[in-house]
Amino acid sequence: MNRSPTDPSTARPRRPRWRSLALLALLLAPLLWPLQLFVERYYSHELLEQNRQTLDLYTANLLGTLRRFEVMPPLLGDLPLLRAALLNPQDAQGIDQANRLLGEIRQQTGADVIYLMNPEGLALVASNWDQADSFVGRNFAFRPYYREAMQGRLARFFGLGTTSGKRGYYFASAVRDGERILGALVVKVDLDYAETLWGKTPEQLMVTDANGVVILTSRPEWRFRASRPLDIAERAAIVDTQPYPEQAPTPLRLRPGAWLTLDRQLPETGWTVSILAPRELVDRQVRTAMAIGGGALLVLILLLGLMMLRRRHYLERIALDARARHQLEQRVLERTRDLEALNSRLKEEVLEREQAQQELVRAQDELLQAGKLSVLGTMSASISHELNQPLGAIRSYADNAGVLLDHGRVDDVRENLTLIRELTGRMASIITHLRAFARRDRHAPESVALQPALDDALALLAKRRRAMDVELIRDLPEATLWVQAGETRLRQVLGNLLANALDALGEKAQPRRLWLSAERTADGIELTLRDNGPGFGPEALARAREPFFTTKTSAQGLGLGLAICDSLMRALGGELVLANHPQGGALITLRMRAAIPGVTPQSPEDSPP
Ligand code: ADP
Repeated sequence: MNRSPTDPSTARPRRPRWRSLALLALLLAPLLWPLQLFVERYYSHELLEQNRQTLDLYTANLLGTLRRFEVMPPLLGDLPLLRAALLNPQDAQGIDQANRLLGEIRQQTGADVIYLMNPEGLALVASNWDQADSFVGRNFAFRPYYREAMQGRLARFFGLGTTSGKRGYYFASAVRDGERILGALVVKVDLDYAETLWGKTPEQLMVTDANGVVILTSRPEWRFRASRPLDIAERAAIVDTQPYPEQAPTPLRLRPGAWLTLDRQLPETGWTVSILAPRELVDRQVRTAMAIGGGALLVLILLLGLMMLRRRHYLERIALDARARHQLEQRVLERTRDLEALNSRLKEEVLEREQAQQELVRAQDELLQAGKLSVLGTMSASISHELNQPLGAIRSYADNAGVLLDHGRVDDVRENLTLIRELTGRMASIITHLRAFARRDRHAPESVALQPALDDALALLAKRRRAMDVELIRDLPEATLWVQAGETRLRQVLGNLLANALDALGEKAQPRRLWLSAERTADGIELTLRDNGPGFGPEALARAREPFFTTKTSAQGLGLGLAICDSLMRALGGELVLANHPQGGALITLRMRAAIPGVTPQSPEDSPP
């Protein structure tokens, strides 16, 4: 089958679109970068904002605590009881009273320790006078706050308690008697407590002092480590004032970029409060967002792919349908073409057949014509032969008679005339037979009684039979058998058949027998004539019905008897069957239609000529 260029069946299946989808994914992937930036910025901002609030809160808290205690040393320094204790250090009662007073005040204010030093730095009175690690009697002259207070300034200092080891913030101011400085009053605030305020959050707290050393932190391992390099002066000061457990703080190295830091300066203390949020917090959010974004993108691409796939399937189905339709149309077209071809072939065949039929009819006509002519020829030849012979004989007898008359031989002439009469009789017989033959089918059959017709025929031949001494054996029913026939024609047939039998028996010695039998069968009436003559020779059996076929001499037979009998029987709707009896001799069967008995009107044609 030739395919046209537009034939859908030639369209090649499309290649999978996954490559273009991957390309699309690649094109869309950079969209994730701004998303990442945005999410990062957003969450960083959120975190910092949140931390700023926490930091503000914490700073306010810390400052509040410190400020609460900041005002205490100048106020307490004005208390007469304390001033008296400095003025009279040997007054044990006064000292005791002062100790108790500081103890009470500490209790009420929540300070860690409150103590009073004389100008040499020796603690005379302390709120923890009654405790094992009492400050009373201990010298704190090495502390910078002591020096500053003795110079009349309000001193602040961060440091570890030398006996407690606890981190504290020290406020100190001078106790004066007029212009004279009697000593210094120190309030120590517990900072360990400030550290415990920080909850267990991922965000870490870090308070660094003026040296950049971590003094408070939620991460114990960061404590007392230097957040920045220390210069020589700072190191010397640390050795001098011993604010930390170690004299040389180890540096704190935080992984760069690991923390989001927010600082708040506390100018009055020189501290920096920092809140450090692990960047991981933001990263985690970014990762989640990116996963969601990536997932969404993937889903989008998959959906797109699915849509493309469905579209492709749809297009393929359409193409398939079109192909199937096209094929169907093609098939229908081919089929139609075939049918048309078949149709025209059929028409041709019909035409040919019609022509053949016509030719056949024509040929049959011609054949018929030829047959007729041939029969006519044969018959004319036979007839002219049959008639010429006696005619020739008659002429010669007549000529002879003339000569005999001249010689006066009257008796011989008479004999010749007798011969001529016989010959004309024979010629008349031939013509009679031919007339019967020609007339055979002109009359409708009528009811004829079989036995009387047979008796008539036998009667005509009775003399000859007796002369030949032929024994007649009859086997006929008593009741008359009625047959459809013409009476004359039936008698003619029976006469012919009986004459033939006698002819055949004449060729044979005694005993000569003739059997006659008749019976009613399912189809009609059957009459059989059997003789014990020589029977039909093979050629005679095949050709006996042909006109002018005879095995007899021309004087004996014309060869028209059986031809006429057969023709008459057929015209009457009956049948003439020729055969030989198994025990020898001819066996001739006449099958006739049975008739309803009744008077049959005689036709003029049937009357004897
Ligand atoms: P014909 O009697 O003039 O010869 P038929 O037509 O009556 O003509 O018979 C044709 C031939 O059939 C005869 O010549 C004869 O050979 C054969 N034939 C007819 N009847 C008998 C018979 N009963 N027995 C033997 N042969 C017969």
